[in-house]
Amino acid sequence: MTERLYYEDPYLWQFDAAVTGTRPGKGAGTWEITLDRSAFYPTSGGQPFDTGRLTWNGCIADVTNVEADPDGEVVHTVNREIPAGTRVRGFIDGHRRTDHMEQHGGEHMLAGAIWEKLGGTTIGLHLGKEDSTIDVSMPDGRTRLTEEEILLLEDTVNTRIRQDAPIRCWFPTEEEMKTLPLRKAPTVTEHIRIVAMGDFEMVACGGTHPSSTGRIGMVKILSALPSKGKVRVTFVCGERALRLFQQYKRSADKAGNVLSCPTEKLATAAGELKARLADAERRLNRFETEKLLGLIRENENGEDLPGITLSVTVTAQGDARPVAEAVSAYISESGKALLLCVGERLTFARSADVDIDMNELIRRVARGGGRPDMASGAGIPECAGVARKILMMEGKGKAWKKKT
Ligand SMILES: [Zn+2]
Repeated sequence: MTERLYYEDPYLWQFDAAVTGTRPGKGAGTWEITLDRSAFYPTSGGQPFDTGRLTWNGCIADVTNVEADPDGEVVHTVNREIPAGTRVRGFIDGHRRTDHMEQHGGEHMLAGAIWEKLGGTTIGLHLGKEDSTIDVSMPDGRTRLTEEEILLLEDTVNTRIRQDAPIRCWFPTEEEMKTLPLRKAPTVTEHIRIVAMGDFEMVACGGTHPSSTGRIGMVKILSALPSKGKVRVTFVCGERALRLFQQYKRSADKAGNVLSCPTEKLATAAGELKARLADAERRLNRFETEKLLGLIRENENGEDLPGITLSVTVTAQGDARPVAEAVSAYISESGKALLLCVGERLTFARSADVDIDMNELIRRVARGGGRPDMASGAGIPECAGVARKILMMEGKGKAWKKKT
């Protein structure tokens, strides 16, 4: 069984060891190495593995994965073969591990406060690349936390962090175990390791933790939303909280400059802007509708199809909504027929009292279809002219207006 050096010193970034086993790895060009002792943390309890290097006799191998096998051996995946018996020096990526310890330590503090203040039990940690999550089972089965509860948790946890209480990890005797006020029962029965963070949190855990609560830095909850019948709390800790604050501050300042307001008034300013934009869109829409309606009327002809008014209208562009509103306003009048081309979009429409099947007509000149009173399709301006000629040639002597 590998001696796990991170149990004693979670800030041990260099160590010496002997290779006790070597075998080909799962991926091409990889090997799996076991050592008599290691400071590399293997993935477990939601905390990802450490990365780093092993060096010997001027050679370097990158450690790209670390897992614990069922016998308790720590298995290091490396990109070079290292013969058994070789003495190596291990180097841990301290920045990655410190980040993991900050997230993991913050998760303990958060889980302790959720239990103490809200009676919620946490079900597991997922430490992600951007943020981390824990799922919380609330005593009343709720799947959300209120804004006040989130503030209470953040204030409680960050006050405790600033108190910089010591974090202690140890393997208690069976007798001592019975006396410990653990937050929840351990999931293992042997070699139980306990972590205590001041008086705020005590639970079984085999992970790596900062040496005091102050080294967690800060905990910020990002959301507390329903997930599979539980509350999923998403959070960031330590340097990640600082980076996120910097990013939010930059974005808020930029938005404040754009809207010419202080950052605390951003929501009000954005709300006002949205209302003004909606009003401007309504007015523009009305203006475009009236403009197109005017153009349709300019192109009216009462002689092509005796008894009704035909408008053949071509225009280069128009938004869908004002076009639809202008067409429907036009054919709401009596005795109107419209062959409209806006850009490459055809709309053929007529009043209820006009006897033309627009669906059939549009299919004869372009790709499209619709109802007898209104049809649309893709085409070119000439399609509208061709449709007019078809009506005029084939409808000689026809009574275009239906009798009512
Ligand atoms: Zn832990």
